[in-house]
Amino acid sequence: MDSEFLFFLAIFSGVMGLVFFGIAIAYRCPACGSLTHGFKSDKVGDLDTGHAYFVCRKCGDKQLKGQVAADGSVMWHGGGSGNFDKNGDYTGDAGGAFGDSGGGDGGGGDGGGGGGE
Ligand SMILES: [Zn+2]
Repeated sequence: MDSEFLFFLAIFSGVMGLVFFGIAIAYRCPACGSLTHGFKSDKVGDLDTGHAYFVCRKCGDKQLKGQVAADGSVMWHGGGSGNFDKNGDYTGDAGGAFGDSGGGDGGGGDGGGGGGE
């Protein structure tokens, strides 16, 4: 029984390892070949040119990976979106969880009941 479980575990971890290895290969840095590039690359936005880059932490190579709007919102070519602040620092993925923060809901500011004289 136990050996079967260990066998399953070995297969499972092997598959997971292959998956991560495949991701690492697919997203490796084209300049220096760093396999950690896909997991640890920095994201940099250039609001002037409208270009968003993945920057290799190992060699500093920049790859154009998305488009930045004037307000700092970025659309990644590979899918997904996010935001840069004015300095070009990545503040995080927009994702669907947050939705767009444009709608002015909230409201509800009803004045307190005035105590008559
Ligand atoms: Zn590199």
